Amino acid sequence: MAKQEDLFKNVVSHAKEYGFIFPSSEIYDGLSAVYDYAQNGVELKKNIREYWWKSMVQMHENIVGLDAAILMHPTTWKASGHVDAFNDPLIDNKDSKKRYRADVLIEDYAEKLNIKAQKEIEKARARFGDAFNEQEFITTNPRVVEYLSKKNEILARMAKSLDAGDLDDVKLLIEELEIACPDSGSRNWTEVRQFNLMFGTKLGASADTAMDLYLRPETAQGIFVNFLNVQKTGRMKIPFGIAQTGKAFRNEIVARQFIFRMREFEQMEMQFFVKPGEEMKWYEYWKTTRLNWHKSLGLGAENYRFHDHEKLAHYANAAADIEFNFPFGFKELEGIHSRTDFDLKAHEQFSGKKLQYFDTEENKNYVPYVVETSVGLDRMFLAVFSKALQEETLEDGSTRTVLRLPSVLAPTKAAVLPLVKKDGLPEIAKEIMEELKWDFNVAYDEKDAVGRRYRRQDALGTPFCITVDHQTVEDKTVTIRHRDTMLQERVAITDLKNIIDKEVSVRNWLMKM
Ligand code: ATP
Repeated sequence: MAKQEDLFKNVVSHAKEYGFIFPSSEIYDGLSAVYDYAQNGVELKKNIREYWWKSMVQMHENIVGLDAAILMHPTTWKASGHVDAFNDPLIDNKDSKKRYRADVLIEDYAEKLNIKAQKEIEKARARFGDAFNEQEFITTNPRVVEYLSKKNEILARMAKSLDAGDLDDVKLLIEELEIACPDSGSRNWTEVRQFNLMFGTKLGASADTAMDLYLRPETAQGIFVNFLNVQKTGRMKIPFGIAQTGKAFRNEIVARQFIFRMREFEQMEMQFFVKPGEEMKWYEYWKTTRLNWHKSLGLGAENYRFHDHEKLAHYANAAADIEFNFPFGFKELEGIHSRTDFDLKAHEQFSGKKLQYFDTEENKNYVPYVVETSVGLDRMFLAVFSKALQEETLEDGSTRTVLRLPSVLAPTKAAVLPLVKKDGLPEIAKEIMEELKWDFNVAYDEKDAVGRRYRRQDALGTPFCITVDHQTVEDKTVTIRHRDTMLQERVAITDLKNIIDKEVSVRNWLMKM
């Protein structure tokens, strides 16, 4: 555990030291759970967004984009259920004065039981080798059966109580399980209360005529209210999707995990409109497709898993998370939800306008069903960044810090380095940079010994270093060094563009899906 905490601290300090992420308004001591993306962070974030956008919009002829406003008519949030139901159950510890989400305390307890069961399974697998029958073991080993059934029982009871709004029972469950404050060990809890996560604001100048608004807590509603506009003007035929990236705001109760849980964050969402009755087919399709998209980045298939929801949101008839192995364990990275016709029907009802599709094959109108894929851009950033950051021991015993970012996402694709600051080498290096910058984000660096410059680029995640030396003057060749292998090859300047392009092109990465 200590090691994991260290790793996470490293991630946060590396992000700051190398110009990826700063706390917001830091000179005023920052603002809790709000962050700014710095010169390298903004590039990485933009590349992740673009990787998503291209795979969604450019590669699907039946998915189009949208950029709806953050501010929306307040009735939107009545219709969507957010005014009444976008709550988290909170609980305070009276001794430590720390605030928690009651459901998360219980889920963490359940996860510990799951981990215990998994440990037994792994032990048995090691003992029995090839003869091991996991399914049989899970259903017959008394300890595993006990751990897993207790876990399921706890989660089912919590889901039932939350659905029924029975917060007293949620508190009772915390007491029965003897869950203590992770910070202080105290079990002196307050009652459980509901807390609405939306940020309110006002539109208009004078106090008496001002209109109460909310900052959007999800981007999805901007898509729903535009459903018919897009369908008609784009002549879209079901099934089709609308994709959008943009800011969302949530007044999160607990926000202590860097950019994992922020109060202002960015989502990348796609709502896929389907014929009623076909939603489960598309739900399965998008689960698989989205997992493959994540895997295409090469961070390791073992770092992803599905988590099917026990407690469904008020709008869903099936929901799963793609969880990622963050430095603090497996947590939600993306949600895939079958949202039924809940949203469109609610907007029809509240607006009095029809939001229906005329199906020419069936010759009838209906309200489409929706399958949503929703991934946090900042969480994607954290996933990629934390897995990429590695300390390596080299053959000579020295260590290097390397940010093994998927090269398609790297902020800078190549750094051009003159070996020395004289003999015409800087001039050639600058010429190379001038040429490459039409196609790639490239950097120039002539400060310090070349070995140190390599290390700096490794820490920034730059896939290539191009070094101009005295031989370059003779034969127009340079060395190109690969970040991950540290191997260097001598190549012609005229080949650089192709070499870099082959490694960083979105096409080559998305082809792995
Ligand atoms: P959680 O259970 O972690 O609060 P959620 O289930 O409320 O998340 P959704 O409403 O499904 O999240 O939002 C979709 C995605 O948006 C999430 O999978 C996550 O990647 C991202 N997201 C949600 N809340 C935040 C936040 N506060 N900070 C950063 N990203 C977030």
